[in-house]
Amino acid sequence: MNINFDNTYAALPSRFYSPREPEPVSAPQTIKVNDELARRLGFDPRWLRSEQGAQFIVGNQLLEGSEPIAMVYAGHQFGNWVPRLGDGRALLLGEVVADDGQRFDIQLKGSGRTPYSRSGDGRAPLGPVLREYLVAEAMAALGVPTTRALAAASTGDTVLRERALPGAVLVRVAKSHIRIGTFEYFASQGDAKAIALLLNHTMDRHYPELQRESFIALLDAFADRLAELVARWQLLGFIHGVMNTDNMLLSGETVDYGPCAFMNEYDPETVFSSIDRYGRYAYGNQPAIAQWNLSRLAQSLLVAVGAEADSDEAKDIFLNEAQAVVDAFPDRFRKAYRKGMARKLGLGPYRDEYWPLIEDLLGVMADTRSDYTLTFRRLMAQLSTETEHEDLAEELFSLDQAFDPWLARLKAHLDDAPLDLHESLEMMAAENPVFIPRNYLVEEALQEAAEHQDYTAFHELHDVLSEPFTYRSAHHRFALPPEPDQCVGATFCGT
Ligand code: AMP
Ligand code: MG
Repeated sequence: MNINFDNTYAALPSRFYSPREPEPVSAPQTIKVNDELARRLGFDPRWLRSEQGAQFIVGNQLLEGSEPIAMVYAGHQFGNWVPRLGDGRALLLGEVVADDGQRFDIQLKGSGRTPYSRSGDGRAPLGPVLREYLVAEAMAALGVPTTRALAAASTGDTVLRERALPGAVLVRVAKSHIRIGTFEYFASQGDAKAIALLLNHTMDRHYPELQRESFIALLDAFADRLAELVARWQLLGFIHGVMNTDNMLLSGETVDYGPCAFMNEYDPETVFSSIDRYGRYAYGNQPAIAQWNLSRLAQSLLVAVGAEADSDEAKDIFLNEAQAVVDAFPDRFRKAYRKGMARKLGLGPYRDEYWPLIEDLLGVMADTRSDYTLTFRRLMAQLSTETEHEDLAEELFSLDQAFDPWLARLKAHLDDAPLDLHESLEMMAAENPVFIPRNYLVEEALQEAAEHQDYTAFHELHDVLSEPFTYRSAHHRFALPPEPDQCVGATFCGT
C-alpha cells in the first residue's frame, strides 16, 4: 500500500511532539473500514480489510512515509489547569492530502504508551473505540463538522480496566489535531516563538483565506466556527460531555467522543457524563463553556502578542480586540442557533418575531418531557397533508395536547413565511433527523461486540445512522426513544 504522506506538523520544531513508535499487539483483526473515506485518502478499502491492513490499523506495520509522533498539549479539564497532557494513547502517523486538496491527519488511537501517558496504559478498550466510530460517523452524516473514523481493528490483547476488556485501535482522521490546549501549552511555557509558529501552521491549514501572523484574525475566525459548531450541537440535542480545552480543535471539528450523548427528553440541564459531577458540561451550558474556552485561547495568544509587541499600545490593542471577540461570542452563537431553529421549523430565513415561538416550543417540550428529536419530526407529520411525511405514526410518538395552541401559532407563521408548505417540509426533512445514535442503542451494539465478539448489531446501527434524515420502516425500532428500563443514565469515558 502506497500512501503519499506529507507531514507538516512533524516538520515543526521538536518541542511540539515526541517521536514514538506504536507498541505491537498480538493478533489484529479488522472490524470496520470506512470505504468512502478510505478511497478519498488513497487507501484501498480491500487492503484495509486484509491481514496486512489489520497490521497497519493497530500500528504493527508502519507505512512508508509515516513519521509517528505524540503531540504535546495542555488544557483545562473541568476548569482545572493541567500543564501537560499530550497524546497519551494516540500517535499521529502523518498527513495525507485528499484528492480534493483537503489535508488530513491520520492518527492511531489506542496504539500504546507515549511520553504523555502518565499512569495510563496507552490502550483503548473495544467498546469506546466502536462508540467513537459510531458517533463520529453519525455526526458526519448529520452534517456536523467532526473528526472521522477510517477503520477499527481488535488487537487480540486485553486491556485492564475495572476488569479485563478486549482491546482495539481506531484510525482517526481529522483536519488537524491542533487544540486550544496546544496553544495553552506553549503559552504556559512563555514560548512566544512556538505560538507564532503554531499560529501560521493553523492559518495555513484551516484559515488560508486570512492574513498570516494576525493573532486577532485567528481568534475571530475560530470564534465563528466555534459558534457554528456549538449551535449545531444544540440544534441536534448533542451533549459533548467533556468540553475541556484540550478537546477543542482549532479546525472547528467535534473531537473526543468519550462520554457524549444525544438527549432523549428535552431538558436543558441534562448531563450524561459520569465524571461531570457538577453538571459543568450540561446541555444548556455548552454555549457558555465554549465562550470560556475561547477566552483561554485569547489569553494564550496574548502571551505571544505581549512578547512580540514593540509597545504597550500594540498589546492594548490586541487586548481590547480580543475582549470584543470573546464578548461577542454569545451573540454569534445566538445568531447561528436561531437561524438553525427557523430552518428546523420550516420557516426559512430567521426573523425576530420567531423567537417567542421558539422559546415557547422549548417550554412546552420541557413541561411535557417530550423527546427532543421526535418532536421536530412529529411537527412535520402534523403539517403535512401528504402521506410521505407521515412516516412517524401516532403509535411511535404523539404530540401532547399541550402543543395544540403552539401548533396554531406555527401554522400562522408558516402562512406568512416566504416558503410554500412543500418547501417548508423539505427544509424540515433536511434539518430534523429521525435516526440519532441514542445511547441505549449504542450500548446495546457495543455490548454484543465486547461480550460476544458479535459485530452484527454494530454494523446494523452504523448503517441505519448513515442516513439519519430518511425514515425506513424496516428500521423503525432505531427511531424510538428508550423505554424507562432501557435508559442509560450515565456515560463513561471508558479510558
Ligand atoms: P481525554 O479524556 O480522552 O480527552 O484524555 C485526556 C488525557 O488523558 C489525554 O492526554 C489522553 O491522551 C490521556 N489518556 C486517556 N486515556 C489514556 C490511556 N489509556 N493511557 C494513557 N493516556 C490516556
Ligand atoms: Mg481528549
